[in-house]
Amino acid sequence: NKTITIDQIKAAAEEAYQLYRNNTAGKNADYIPYLANIDKNLFGISICLLDGRTIEFGDTQYKFGIESVSKVHTAILVIRQSGTDELLNKIGADATGLPFNSIFAILLEKDHPSTPLVNAGAITACSMIQPVGDADKKWEAIVSNITELCGSAPQLIDELYQSESATNFNNRSISWLLKNYNRMYDDPDKSLDLYTRQCSLGITAQQLAICGATIANKGLNPVSKLQVFDAGASSKITSLIATVGFYEHTGDWLYTSGIPAKTGVGGGVMGTLPGLFGIAAFAPPIDDAGNSVKAQLAIKYIMNKLELSVFSGD
Ligand code: GLU
Repeated sequence: NKTITIDQIKAAAEEAYQLYRNNTAGKNADYIPYLANIDKNLFGISICLLDGRTIEFGDTQYKFGIESVSKVHTAILVIRQSGTDELLNKIGADATGLPFNSIFAILLEKDHPSTPLVNAGAITACSMIQPVGDADKKWEAIVSNITELCGSAPQLIDELYQSESATNFNNRSISWLLKNYNRMYDDPDKSLDLYTRQCSLGITAQQLAICGATIANKGLNPVSKLQVFDAGASSKITSLIATVGFYEHTGDWLYTSGIPAKTGVGGGVMGTLPGLFGIAAFAPPIDDAGNSVKAQLAIKYIMNKLELSVFSGD
């Protein structure tokens, strides 16, 4: 394994922060009214090493909408409750090559949603959470799983939840289409509500970096020292992230950054580099595909500067 010091990582992160802090490319997500109004200058980079030390630049304590990054957390919960085979059989682990909200993600493989990391599979994942039929207990399980992965609790941004619930027509159709294909394992409206609520959780870049580090550290949270999930599941989770973390741009992302990472329209990106660190960056303006412009630039810069890649074999 390549040796890399905390000072080298810190220097690269600081350079990235200075280099991109004044970048104004992209614009806030506007299909969810709450997100359109977030301060577009917010920018933070956080890295968590596997010994629990963290590196922070900028707005790493600001709570932003976790959005689709939460799909990783809930996929992990499905694995914790039902195992890696059940996730593969009921949802799948394939690339879709499609945008996050595509209804074709269901039809692509004839009947199942392909992966828990696009909307269709994420809504199925929420329907699978136990105890089926008890939405309150399911919500508790979702929040407590995120808390364990991130080392501290997320907080619901009620305004975001209301905003998203009032405008999620596309997701409502996905939910019922899943029901039509027998890929809904609980009430479709309640499962969609859980999905919408989990997307509306406020999270910090630091919390996401700790989650990325927990995945990179075989399920052992390096800050709280809690073994959150079975060590053997960690390569499965990383493979899901690597395959579809940036939707239709996942290949380009991996090619240019070398790190499996999951993006969300709230402006967050969470990366996990097995055996080395978790990293998260946050900045609200996103590109046409819904990915934070500055978060992508920062993480790519750091990975390239340190000459790291999950594929390098170092
Ligand atoms: N809540 C968003 C939606 O389902 C998440 C999208 C994303 O972050 O990619 O539309």
